[in-house]
Amino acid sequence: MSKVIIIGAGGVGGVVTHKCAQLPEVFPEIILASRNEEKCKKIAAQLPRPIRTAQVDADNVAELTALLEKEQPSLVINVALPYQDLHIMDACLNAGVHYLDTANYEPPEVAKFEYKWQWAYQDKFQKAGLMALLGSGFDPGVTNVYTAYIKKHCLDEIHELDIIDANAGNHGQPFATNFNPEINIREVTAKGRFWENGEWVETDPLSVKDSFDFPEGIGPMDIYMMYHEELESIVKHFPEIKRARFWMTFSQNYLKHLEVLQNVGMTGIKPVMYNGVEVIPLQFLKSVLPDPSSLGPLTKGRTCIGCVAKGVKDGKEKIVYIYNICDHEACYREVQSQAISYTTGVPAMIGAKMMLENKWMKPGVWNMEQFDPDPFMEDLNKYGLPWTLVEKTDTGLTS
Ligand code: NDP
Repeated sequence: MSKVIIIGAGGVGGVVTHKCAQLPEVFPEIILASRNEEKCKKIAAQLPRPIRTAQVDADNVAELTALLEKEQPSLVINVALPYQDLHIMDACLNAGVHYLDTANYEPPEVAKFEYKWQWAYQDKFQKAGLMALLGSGFDPGVTNVYTAYIKKHCLDEIHELDIIDANAGNHGQPFATNFNPEINIREVTAKGRFWENGEWVETDPLSVKDSFDFPEGIGPMDIYMMYHEELESIVKHFPEIKRARFWMTFSQNYLKHLEVLQNVGMTGIKPVMYNGVEVIPLQFLKSVLPDPSSLGPLTKGRTCIGCVAKGVKDGKEKIVYIYNICDHEACYREVQSQAISYTTGVPAMIGAKMMLENKWMKPGVWNMEQFDPDPFMEDLNKYGLPWTLVEKTDTGLTS
């Protein structure tokens, strides 16, 4: 019998717990653990069947190891913050438990996210006979699986890849982020980076803009190029890719607020002294912004995330687009969350299911595109994130 421990009771944690609870045949026993157990209990009270909850500080490796040794789960689903990744991986190694997360490790003191720290655990996990699945959210996660699916079924070689993430929804708040504000703002204010002809090209934050006509009535929206972590693993695992970029939509309102907050120093991550107390401006800002999980009942509209890939099939140029459209209000009706947490939490559940069913199971540290995409793609259709594949005559981007 498989027991899982989910760590983190935020927006994503709520969705993963709901989705795992809907599948008792795969997840017969669930424990939701977080820094603040009250938040776990609140989520547990929404579920159709009982689960257990626990209090744990995941940065305290000894405390987490003790919990894992006591409970002996098969798998930890880490949906806390990227800062906890290495501590949770260490505890999994100590207690002999498989590991899954949705975001790569980021040191708290620098806004720099890279896989090198987690890839360095490859030998340790292999030797222990344990598996770590990295980045099983939507982006990273589903976008990696879409790329692997395109390579397996649509193109002999992928030459250009554009991952395009649109939130065409609205929460009606003057300024709020759809997932953890600290992580979101660190990501968005970082320098952009894309892969071209074997090297990374850096751009100033949000300085490259294009427009994309999103399908199924969403229509054209401005998109901004930024760096996103799946680019690093995708270009490593598909070395034929000549150019890979990541784009995201932002409203003018979001960008204006962000610019002002940056200009006045509120997005800084270096401590400042205030009345004799050390304060990190971005962490203070997070404490006054709306909690992303409170946006669930307020958010209307849809998200559309997908991959446009250009390459060759049977010697001829071919362009394909795979995407998912997700409706904020439908997500809220199902699991009391908006679509951003939903599109992350569902793939985390499916990644865990792949591991527990031994469809994706090999010792070591792996990214999503290193496995057969087919069973995962099948489950996306079954469990709430159906996808559409179309052939296009052009990429739809001007750059
Ligand atoms: P939230 O901030 O809403 O939730 C994080 C949760 O982790 C909170 O419950 C928090 O506790 C808990 N937590 C933080 N530190 C610790 C700790 N030391 N020990 C135990 N629990 C801790 O974030 P989200 O739910 O929005 O995001 C969760 C993860 O998902 C993040 O890593 C994020 O980067 C990732 N993500 C991935 C996406 C993808 O597509 N791949 C998209 C969106 C998010 P407390 O409540 O006390 O603060």
